[in-house]
Amino acid sequence: MIAAKGYAAQDAHTPLAPFQFERREVKPHDVQFDILYCGVCHSDLHQIRNEWGGSIFPMVPGHEIVGRVTKVGSEVTKFKAGDLAGVGCMVDSCRQCENCREGLEQYCLVGNSQTYNGREQDGVTPTYGGYSNVIVVHEDFVLHVPESLDLAAVAPLLCAGITTYSPLRHWKVGQGHKVAVLGLGGLGHMAVKFAVAFGSEVTMLSTSPAKEADARRLGAHKFVLTSDPAQVKAVKGSFDFIIDTVSAPHDYNLYLSLLKTNGVHICVGAPPTPAEIMGFSLIGGRKSIAGSGIGGIPETQEMLDFCAEHNIVSDIELISIKDIQSAYDRMLKGDVRYRFVIDLKTL
Ligand code: NAP
Ligand code: ZN
Ligand code: ZN
Repeated sequence: MIAAKGYAAQDAHTPLAPFQFERREVKPHDVQFDILYCGVCHSDLHQIRNEWGGSIFPMVPGHEIVGRVTKVGSEVTKFKAGDLAGVGCMVDSCRQCENCREGLEQYCLVGNSQTYNGREQDGVTPTYGGYSNVIVVHEDFVLHVPESLDLAAVAPLLCAGITTYSPLRHWKVGQGHKVAVLGLGGLGHMAVKFAVAFGSEVTMLSTSPAKEADARRLGAHKFVLTSDPAQVKAVKGSFDFIIDTVSAPHDYNLYLSLLKTNGVHICVGAPPTPAEIMGFSLIGGRKSIAGSGIGGIPETQEMLDFCAEHNIVSDIELISIKDIQSAYDRMLKGDVRYRFVIDLKTL
């Protein structure tokens, strides 16, 4: 076994603390790499606080991982020592179901193996994430990371990036579309960048007046402060799509009223409590409410290649791992600009 160290939550109430554990030895199809950077996703916070239920402790969070390969198994063809490597939210899946065969491993019908707070495909072995120094993953779930981009700022693409890229591609969002992005955090700022890159007119819907200048710098054409009823009224019935990245309970009926006829409200944010949606919010204007989960491995690679070509990365604040708790506190207050990334040198 390979000795590893990281930061773990021992239960849903105590702060993260240093933790020693083991990674498996490299098998013929495995890639081992030293983790350089790991992004901090709001899902980390939901899961260490057990807000979605079923959390597995001890938990080493982190699913926006980039690093450099140190060792590959005898049968590995896609990577060699010295290559950059990335791992997102999954480390394996059944590979045989209809969805896996289509490259939609995030919707594996058997259940994929999440990078942390999950189990390997044996159903027993717990998975540990990227707030750690080393990881071993089957080559099919390791992404090629472009050498041309700032590595720390690439890490968040592995979750925040693909989670917003995938629905925009699925619904063919592009030129001629008016798109609203709800919530300017990790996912929201990537949604703005991608929707702008795909040629849409983008409006930022935010609760934070202080984020207006940043929203415009990120490429948003308009900014609406959602706590101001007059500003909200002015955009009623005006969007083809809303990408909803909000992590806390909010009023879906209000946002559905901002869609045009046939508009689609796409949920990527995952608040821990159920939403109340009136049938009439959908009936008037034949509207849809939809959801989307991360993205499959082929699409994640496509997204990374798109980012390399268009020079797109995340806007980050690099932190030391000992400051993780204060990063979470700021994230809870919506004070994220726009992704915390852990520098694993500080471990
Ligand atoms: P984040 O960085 O904390 O951003 C969330 C943003 O939502 C905040 O910055 C804030 O933006 C807004 N917000 C927070 N509370 C709000 C409230 N009560 N009402 C309205 N707006 C509020 O979080 P993230 O990492 O982007 O993640 C967002 C959500 O997506 C989380 O629930 C996460 O678990 C989920 N997620 C889902 C997937 C998926 O596959 N579908 C993948 C990753 C993450 P403003 O200040 O602009 O209002
Ligand atoms: Zn995430
Ligand atoms: Zn499957």
